[in-house]
Amino acid sequence: MSLTNRILIAMAAGIVLGCLLNVALHSAILPEAIRSALDTYIVSGLFDAVGRIFVASLKLLVVPLVLVSLICGSSSLANSSRMGPIAGKTVIFYLATTAVAVTVALSFAVFVAPGDGVVMDGTANYQPSVPPPLVDVLVNIFPTNPVRAMADGKMLQIIVFALLFGFAIANAGDPGRRIAGFFRDMEAVVMNMVDILMRLAPYGVFALLAKLFAAMGVDVIVHLAGYFFTVLAVLLFHALVTYSVLLKGLTGLSPRILLRKMRPVWAFAFSTASSGATLPVTLRTVERRMGVHNSVAGFTIPLGATINMDGTAIMQGVATVFIAQVYGVDLTMIAFLTVILTATLASIGTAAVPGVGLITLAMVLGQVGLPVEGIALIIGVDRLLDMVRTAVNVTGDSVVSLVVAHSEKQFDESVFHDPNADQEPINGGELSSPRG
Ligand code: ASP
Repeated sequence: MSLTNRILIAMAAGIVLGCLLNVALHSAILPEAIRSALDTYIVSGLFDAVGRIFVASLKLLVVPLVLVSLICGSSSLANSSRMGPIAGKTVIFYLATTAVAVTVALSFAVFVAPGDGVVMDGTANYQPSVPPPLVDVLVNIFPTNPVRAMADGKMLQIIVFALLFGFAIANAGDPGRRIAGFFRDMEAVVMNMVDILMRLAPYGVFALLAKLFAAMGVDVIVHLAGYFFTVLAVLLFHALVTYSVLLKGLTGLSPRILLRKMRPVWAFAFSTASSGATLPVTLRTVERRMGVHNSVAGFTIPLGATINMDGTAIMQGVATVFIAQVYGVDLTMIAFLTVILTATLASIGTAAVPGVGLITLAMVLGQVGLPVEGIALIIGVDRLLDMVRTAVNVTGDSVVSLVVAHSEKQFDESVFHDPNADQEPINGGELSSPRG
């Protein structure tokens, strides 16, 4: 059986077992001693431990992989004068897709009106964390100490350092060529670590989902069905329609192939609810299974995991309208534009970890004068939606990477069309004419 199928089966089995455990843990038929043993040894013991070890192992690969990939990519591009256009196109596509996402979300939410008739719970209480000022976010992109940036996993700082380093390699003559060889070898080795981890994924995904659904249950959805299904519908629309139109329209490539190749990445995104933890798998899939050259993927995917969060922006759009409706506030046209702008910019500089969307939602609500305590209304279903929106976020990263690589001819179409493609990373051009 293929690895993808094993991961998907593990995912389904984890959800089903988790839901059954949730019922068992709350049922009066089972004696208290058995329920408590189930919880202690299985759910909060075995599943929790396996799940956390799995996520830790994924995160372990993020910094080394981003660093070596980006150094390889930027060093091979540095002299081709394509670095600027690639960076420019990537950022524009990321911002544009997010703006579209939040606009669709707002329109859909206004149309469906999920908050009408919802009675506010008097106990609503949410303490928002204060988001940093935008200037600090921008200044903090530039590291003072690359080792600290890596130790703290500060993705944008690592990106800046790696780009600079790659650029210097390309301009350093023979020493540069030797160092470039070292990083190419390193990349192959770190990618191999990703392979090893992917083979363990069925166990990790299973444990994560079984634990989550055992603890949470799905009955929370019932109270917030209007909000939950509105967000879900827009997420699906964006993933299936917007991205397909974008891919087909700009590259002529088949969205079906893309969606098929994304399945294992979704399983990782869904079970970890973190674009950051999923990054190694996204990068590997985009390079080896979709044919995007390392020179583009090494830049677009880590950047996307950090600044591109279409799914998160969708949740924020629907949540803003929902909270406004519950509080009986009419949003003006200016307020809608403010939400689009804030939600698009808010994702830049926020970490790609579970639940971060709620922190930036506080910022969005604050901008349009809605009470941040409103977040307490939707928090119950947030984890479930987080899983789905993370899958949308990583899909957006992959689509933009494909579009940019296609436009820059840093793309191998035969790999994209090969259903069994899973090959060594493709390096986008050798070090061309290094000066020095
Ligand atoms: N968990 C999301 C991600 O990592 C961010 C969020 O929406 O909270 O992409």
